[in-house]
Parts: sequence; structure tokens; C-alpha cells
Amino acid sequence: RAQSISSENLGERIPQPGTHDEIDRMVATLNEMIQRLEQSFAQLEQFTANASHELRTPLTILKGEIEVALQQSRNDGEYRSVLESNLEEVRRISRTVEHLFLLARIDANAITPVREPVFLKPLLEEIAKDAAILAGEHEVRIESALDDIPEAQGDTIMLVQLFINLVENGIKYNRPGGSLRLKLTAHGANAATGYPGIARVEVSDTGIGIPHEELDSIFDRFYRVDKQRARSHGGAGLGLSIAQWIVRMHKGSINVRSREGEGTTFTVDIPIE
Ligand code: ADP
Repeated sequence: RAQSISSENLGERIPQPGTHDEIDRMVATLNEMIQRLEQSFAQLEQFTANASHELRTPLTILKGEIEVALQQSRNDGEYRSVLESNLEEVRRISRTVEHLFLLARIDANAITPVREPVFLKPLLEEIAKDAAILAGEHEVRIESALDDIPEAQGDTIMLVQLFINLVENGIKYNRPGGSLRLKLTAHGANAATGYPGIARVEVSDTGIGIPHEELDSIFDRFYRVDKQRARSHGGAGLGLSIAQWIVRMHKGSINVRSREGEGTTFTVDIPIE
């Protein structure tokens, strides 16, 4: 019976003899294993379905735009505006693919965390500089209040990815004329015990906020608060699940506070060692 169970019929179980002996226990153990496999397969199928969906939507938009543009001849300005719109969809697709690729590597345990000294102040300054273009497009002002703190230990590339995700969200889900504030402080160092403390990064925006009842879900894969709005803002709902994984990898914590219509603050604590 065990030999006949494959990925095709993972819902089946081996009949339990009920004899309370070694065979009985072995059957129970095998059945538990089959159940775990069944769950993993279901998760994998769900992930593939979600990923395909996230890629299909921008591709459909892209195809439609190109088809309409080709229906008749257009002037330079019209071609330009179609290309600009195409580019936006292509950017969306490549962001989603990058996130999916990273998640696949995370799931396959294919990422070996690097531990190197990370100077968070220049790292955040660089991110703020790079985010200026996106901020300009959304008419959002970026403010920074970054203390000179001791170096943390971690993976620079991963930490950059983490803070880019938070900063981009703070800009995307903001309002025109709003602001995004980056704050870096150190806390809890204790010379007597030798505890070096934590580095705290706060990313605050003056945007749309997140409803209280949704706060627990936003770190789930593919989760978006307002499906329509998030769609037009270009997210596949993967950024925060990746952010959370990166924080865990650094043995840190990430928390969110938000008020609808007023804004959101993400707080990331990373141990300094
Ligand atoms: P996305 O790529 O869709 O932005 P994320 O995983 O980064 O995905 O975020 C999940 C959802 O949480 C978003 O779709 C959005 O609804 C909500 N969200 C994230 N950050 C913010 C923020 N700063 N302000 C308001 N809503 C946010």
C-alpha cells in the first residue's frame, strides 16, 4: 500500500491495523509522513498558482497595450507614451520575478548568510539617495535622522534588500505631498554586562495606513491589503515576507504600527555584536 502512494494520490493513507505493536506504530509514522508530504505539495501548488497569476496580469496589460498601439500608425509622442507604459509593466514583472527567485532560493536553503561588518548609516544614506527618483514620481519627501552607531554584523546585500522593500512601500503607499522618514538609533548597550545592544531602524510614512485587522497578515506571501490599489501600485505582496525572513536571518525583529489614513511605521531591530 505504501508503494502505491505517489504525488498523484497523496490523500490516501495506509490502513491502521490497530494492533498496538511495532507494525501499528510504523504505519502511524508513515501516515504522518505522507500527511506532511501532502501539505508540502499543496503549498507548492498554491505557490505556483499565485506566482503565475502575479505574472499573468502585467503580461496581459503589456500585450493589450502593444496590440492597441499597433492597430494604426501613431506619432512619436504616442509611441513614446506606449513605451513608457510598457516599461512600467516590464519593471513590475522583473521585480516580481526577482522576489520569486529569492523566495525559491530561501525555500531551497540555498542562501548562505554572510556575516560581515555592516555600517547602517551609510547604507541607509545610499538607499535614501537611490529612492529619490521613486519618491519624486510620487511627490513624497524623504527625511533622514541617522545616528552614528557601532557597526552591526550581517549580510549587506540582504539588509539592503530589506530596507529597500520598506522604503519603497513607504513611498508607494504614501500620498502626494507626504513624507517618508528614516531613523537610525542604537539601544540597550550595557558596558557592565558587555551587551552591545541593538541597532534600530524605523521607516515611517504619512500614507494610507493599514487596517488594524490586517496587520498580522501583511507579512504573508502574496498578501495585499487592498487588492485593486496594490495592483495599480505594482506589488505582488512578496516584499514584506522577504523582509521578515531577512530580519529572522539576522536574529532581529520587525514590528509594524499603523493608523489608517495617517501612516505606518516599521521598526527593525538588529543585534549589534
Ligand atoms: P507589495 O509588493 O504588494 O507592496 P508587500 O509584501 O511589500 O507587497 O506588502 C504587503 C501589503 O501590505 C501591500 O500590498 C500593502 O497593501 C500593505 N503595505 C505594506 N507596506 C505598507 C505601507 N507602508 N503603508 C500601507 N500599506 C502597506
